[in-house]
Amino acid sequence: MAEEESSFDDFEQVDFLRDRHIRFFQRCLQVLPERYSSLETSRLTIVFFALSGLDVLDAMDVIDKPSLIEWIYSLQVLPTEDQSNLPRCGFRGSSHIGVPYQTKGPGSPHPYDSAHVAMTYTGLASLVILGDDLSRVNKQACMTGLRALQLKDGSFYAVPEGSENDMRFIYCAACICHMLNDWSGMDIKKAIAYIKKSMSYDNGIGQGAGLESHGGSTFCAVAALCLMGKLEEMFSQRELDRIRRWCIMRQQNGFHGRPNKPVDTCYSFWVGATLELLDVFKYTNFEKNRNYILSTQDRLVGGFAKWPDSHPDPLHAYFGICGLSLIGEENLRRVHPALNISQRAFEHLQQLHRAWTETCT
Ligand SMILES: [Zn+2]
Repeated sequence: MAEEESSFDDFEQVDFLRDRHIRFFQRCLQVLPERYSSLETSRLTIVFFALSGLDVLDAMDVIDKPSLIEWIYSLQVLPTEDQSNLPRCGFRGSSHIGVPYQTKGPGSPHPYDSAHVAMTYTGLASLVILGDDLSRVNKQACMTGLRALQLKDGSFYAVPEGSENDMRFIYCAACICHMLNDWSGMDIKKAIAYIKKSMSYDNGIGQGAGLESHGGSTFCAVAALCLMGKLEEMFSQRELDRIRRWCIMRQQNGFHGRPNKPVDTCYSFWVGATLELLDVFKYTNFEKNRNYILSTQDRLVGGFAKWPDSHPDPLHAYFGICGLSLIGEENLRRVHPALNISQRAFEHLQQLHRAWTETCT
């Protein structure tokens, strides 16, 4: 066992294959292998991983921006003439239910056409990355759609028909409110109460009260509070230190999401970004983290997998690159750790917010 552990320390210095990753993400934007067909309903999230990945790689020039912007707007669930579908507005994941292609309202009535909170989040984030001004987003409809998803306990459903409800969707909702600069889409007090109740006995944060601490839900909770500007207010210094300790203990060589689980590339972002938001990421071992992430790099087709010698996929490819960006890998754009887009895209969003406030006053 001791031998196995030490062998992790002996990775050769591996190169980061930037051009391969650019081509990997370009392919994700075109056509996907058959084994991804079940992901068709959430295609917008895959487009987000590819787009944001290309942005962090500083390779936005390979993208046909105008046609992608039009495609994303075609996924907006717009109010119908009688406005009866307002609680179902936001963005859908793809055109799989056969709603006619259109980028302008009014929406066409369809019994199964509703937005999904993760698609609204990744749709808006993709538009921001593409430099769009969000002027064609029906912000009021998005807010009505979001309010319809919140439960009494403060958590959110993903879709208005009902679904799992947990920390992931609170995070998506916080990103939507932050990007649209409008918090009328959620009852912040209730959302915060849900987050606080989800802190577990071991000081990590679970998907809900009484559930196991997890690196993904801890990120969602901490990042959502940061986007609300409430982190320091809602947790005492002592509680924050305990969350910091739980997160820092997740580093093995790379990071894992829970005690006694194998390390996985994506946690270099989920846990790494949480530690960055909590201002202690600098105390982690960057070299071991980098070596683990690069051990999951596919040297032939590009992208990253969750484990060495596994197939790369768009999610792990994106979070592998974000994990490397957090440790300052050369030639990568910096990632905004709470909003999970590049710092460049975040600055564009800030400019939009300034322009919106100026026109309001
Ligand atoms: Zn993973």
